[in-house]
Amino acid sequence: MSTATATGSPTAERLYEKLRNVAAGTSGPYSRERCAELAPVVDDINRLKRERNAVILVHYYVHPEITVGVGDFVGDSYKLAKDAKSTTADLIVFVAVRFMAETAKCLNPEKTVLIPSKLNGCSLADAISAERVRQLRQQFPQHTFVCYINTSAAVKALCDVCVTSSNVYDIVQRIENDRIYFLPDKLMGENVQDEMKRRGVRKDVQIFDATCYVHQQYDPERVQRLKAKHPGLKVLSHPECSPEIIAHADHVASTKGMMQYLRDTDAPAYLLLTECGLAGRAQVEMPGKTFIGPCVECRYMKSNSLQDVRRVLRAPEADDIVEVAPDVRQGALRCINAMFRYAEMAG
Ligand code: SF4
Repeated sequence: MSTATATGSPTAERLYEKLRNVAAGTSGPYSRERCAELAPVVDDINRLKRERNAVILVHYYVHPEITVGVGDFVGDSYKLAKDAKSTTADLIVFVAVRFMAETAKCLNPEKTVLIPSKLNGCSLADAISAERVRQLRQQFPQHTFVCYINTSAAVKALCDVCVTSSNVYDIVQRIENDRIYFLPDKLMGENVQDEMKRRGVRKDVQIFDATCYVHQQYDPERVQRLKAKHPGLKVLSHPECSPEIIAHADHVASTKGMMQYLRDTDAPAYLLLTECGLAGRAQVEMPGKTFIGPCVECRYMKSNSLQDVRRVLRAPEADDIVEVAPDVRQGALRCINAMFRYAEMAG
């Protein structure tokens, strides 16, 4: 009897077919045996989802068995914010980090929003408090405060408009005020300054001093060496990387934009300069493509597990339930809706 017949439920077979090519980082490898172990948890979650009229939103950076096994919506923070806005489910399970789940709660105050991981921080979101924004606003009273979506709801509530990596350049360009304070990502802020110069847009862009500990790790010299070693290599960079890295990139985009670029091009190999989960997702969707280079993982995103998704669907504990105080929500929603308005203007 083959191993497949001995261990393979239909769910295990489906997982194996989708995940067998994933070799990125700590997620893989996915053997038939491992998929057979994951399958009962996946089946439990999908049953609980139906029973509770729940929807599961998953960021690209989490382990692929979650995106493939139980994810209803998979994407970057902008897409997931839009998905959270449009869902008719009673319950949202947000498999990512807390600031994203807070955004979903702000958009859906009447729904229950659950976050499975207990380690749900983010080195950017955790770097700035509401109190610090209050001080900065006193220091820069003439500036429009633009916050990256990687901020808490309390910080968003004190800013004018929020942005994501997929719309940051267009939104900053469209803001009527020439004076911008961008927070909290220093490297993205420097890229905004450079991009405005490239576009011939005059803006005084002040920036806060925090970084994503994942994206700051890429080394420009190593990227150069890899380009020299692999002729035809396409380098894709996230705007959270440093300007020195961006200078070596063939394409700069959000994770969603990188996925689109991969679908639209046919290069001998790709180097994805973002959290390694994106390479895993790309290996699921595009098994014929070759990915090289370092695999840098986000400990916060990778702390999400199928077991925790099942746990919160069965019996959430108090700190699994995302709450945002009504006054904070009102302010954060104004900031988030300003993003949607600007993004719609951009088309
Ligand atoms: S990859 Fe960086 S920005 Fe994204 S959640 Fe992790 S620490 Fe935050």
